[in-house]
Amino acid sequence: MDLSTVRKRLEERERLLSPFAARSDASRGREAPEDPSPVRTEFQRDRDRIIHCKAFRRLKHKTQVFIAPVGDHFVTRLTHTLEVAQVSRTIARGLNLNEDLAEAIALAHDIGHPPFGHAGEEALAELLPQGFRHAEQSLRVVEQLEHLNLTWEVRDGIVNSSKVREDIMAQAWGTPFTLEGQTVKLSDAVAYINHDIADAIRAGLITDEELPQEVSETLGRRHAERINTLVCDIIEHSWAASGEGPPVERTQVRIGMSERIAAAANALREFMFQRVYLWEGRREEAEEARQVVSLLYGHYCEHPDEIRSDFVIPADPVWRRAADYVAGMTDGFALAQAARLGRRSALARGEFQRL
Ligand code: MG
Repeated sequence: MDLSTVRKRLEERERLLSPFAARSDASRGREAPEDPSPVRTEFQRDRDRIIHCKAFRRLKHKTQVFIAPVGDHFVTRLTHTLEVAQVSRTIARGLNLNEDLAEAIALAHDIGHPPFGHAGEEALAELLPQGFRHAEQSLRVVEQLEHLNLTWEVRDGIVNSSKVREDIMAQAWGTPFTLEGQTVKLSDAVAYINHDIADAIRAGLITDEELPQEVSETLGRRHAERINTLVCDIIEHSWAASGEGPPVERTQVRIGMSERIAAAANALREFMFQRVYLWEGRREEAEEARQVVSLLYGHYCEHPDEIRSDFVIPADPVWRRAADYVAGMTDGFALAQAARLGRRSALARGEFQRL
């Protein structure tokens, strides 16, 4: 038999998707052309490559909000990534978009995130001659450090996945070209504003009852209710993307949220900033994290011979290699290296681990 009939059958099924969905057989392709897989579409193949790479595995030990927490139930970059993938798939399926493409973008969207979450990212942004953004680093990881040779659609979704912190709907830092990429961008916010509440409650910083009334009444009182409200609203508000509404031009179709729900989601974000992200204890913790990143970056710039070469490109300038090495580290590895270098920080001593 000809095994490629499997892929052809899968591609045939994609013809039943929305006319606005990205079809894998119409992909703009890969930097280095390859023969197709006999049993998977191009986007399914991208998803598999991401899951099998080393940078994906390290997400397990990278911080989301709370740095190197001791509790087993805190969200990590890996569980966040899986939640984003699941929310993205639900929305993509609801709108009859390409679920495989949404999943692939979601799984890689934070793959270049440095250790210690936002604090680590800020530290590198200040240190590097050309600044640092995790979405750009994620693209660098899949293209240059892991050589995944992904399709253009997945790479476009990754590099345009960042949001500004003030407004989950703002299209700063680029708009993904595909509706699947836009779906991931919004699903990222759906996932984190909800799991960050759960983590903050777990850490004893807030209680369920303290959430602003507007938020509880509009989005729901429970975790599951709030995610459901947001996901349903996005599907309903973006219905034109399914191609089943009144005829529209592709350029008019956007993945978004209704004003009422977006206002409640932004109110929730603001509350989280006041009570959790900018909380005094976290500021102290973030400052420690910044010092660890700064120490490591400085050290590897001076001692490039200590950089493990399989995580960097040997021909790159020293600052680039030091940055790639430090950005790729997990929280625990970075703390261990800092301790090894004699910087017995409060973080390394576990003083913040009471969270
Ligand atoms: Mg994310």
